[in-house]
Amino acid sequence: MPQRTDVVIVGGGQSGLAAGYHLRRLGVEFVILDAQAGPGGAWQHTWDSLRLFSPAQYSSLPGRLMPVQPGQTYPDARHVVDYLADYEKRYDFPVHRGARVDGVHHDGTHLRVEADTGAWRARAVISATGTWTRPFLPAAHGRREFQGRQLHTVRYKSPEEFAGQRVIVVGGGNSGAQIAADLAHAGIDLTWVTQRPPRYLADDIDGRALFDAATARRRALEEGRTDTGGVASLGDIVAVPPVREARDTGLLTARPMFTRLTRTGVEWADGTRAEADAIVWCTGFRPALSHLAPLGLRGPRGHIPTAGTQALREPRVHLLGYGDWTGPASATLIGVGRPARDAARAIAELLGLR
Ligand code: FAD
Repeated sequence: MPQRTDVVIVGGGQSGLAAGYHLRRLGVEFVILDAQAGPGGAWQHTWDSLRLFSPAQYSSLPGRLMPVQPGQTYPDARHVVDYLADYEKRYDFPVHRGARVDGVHHDGTHLRVEADTGAWRARAVISATGTWTRPFLPAAHGRREFQGRQLHTVRYKSPEEFAGQRVIVVGGGNSGAQIAADLAHAGIDLTWVTQRPPRYLADDIDGRALFDAATARRRALEEGRTDTGGVASLGDIVAVPPVREARDTGLLTARPMFTRLTRTGVEWADGTRAEADAIVWCTGFRPALSHLAPLGLRGPRGHIPTAGTQALREPRVHLLGYGDWTGPASATLIGVGRPARDAARAIAELLGLR
């Protein structure tokens, strides 16, 4: 027999916790099912030198400020994991760990959430599974031909494992720039490749300004004004100190995208080549949504259409934290609070609690 609750939150990273915070405030009963053994969501797995692109005060979930990390303006991932662990403990959230959800199904008046640890029957579901578990690799000619090592951002840890090697980093976003800088500072023989010339945000702009831009975009859209373009209009790369230093000392110069991989490296359209022992693909992520497949929520273009966080085809399902399509800046620590509140309110109304 499935266990019963009002709401199942799938995913216990920052988005799931922010949803829990607002459901608790509204008196809605819920559980959080999280596939991992420990708290912290994706932050448990990032590379060692990762720094947040915002100071701690601008990286907080609702209700509790992230403490400043001693000696660091921009906290590291370990600090975020500690903060999230403390957050869920402080509010005593019912988090079930090691519980991977395989499918969410219609079940008469309810939804049935099938996890590998057992089933739950709920009146609503918030999906907050992030993107980290679905790394994206673009199509590339010759990928199978290359004899060296290929890895995605999710497998990169530190430059030590590349000592003495020639490494190509692909990607002009924050991950690509930070990993390229990490390798360059360690003296690794680096080739950095980006689809278009790197677009750095101005040096005095960090996550604070990104959040302001996202908020301005949300307001413009809500008021029916022209789309301001939000964060994307500012640039792709936040010049956090290690990136700025590497760029300013000439360690970070990008080459355009190569046309194919060879057995021993890559080749550009003009025939020039670079030899490599490893290629790090910093090419982004896709939302981890396969557990929602049984509900048939996808639209004709393959994505799940939503109004805010609410799935258009199943109003009892909300999607939280995947990116701008579920709310401006919703895939950031500071930005997820507002869409989490909206989702919690909509669910409380649906359940007749408001
Ligand atoms: P996650 O942290 O990925 O948590 C989702 C949880 O759900 C995980 O524990 C996962 O195991 C679990 N899960 C997945 N599938 C299932 C399933 N089927 N069943 C049960 N559980 C499941 N944001 C900032 O605010 N500041 C920054 O400086 C910043 N830097 C970033 C740098 C990088 C390299 C990246 C990739 C992101 C960065 N972000 C930053 C963005 C953002 O904060 C993260 O992507 C964040 O981890 C998203 O949180 P989440 O809770 O939505 O997802």
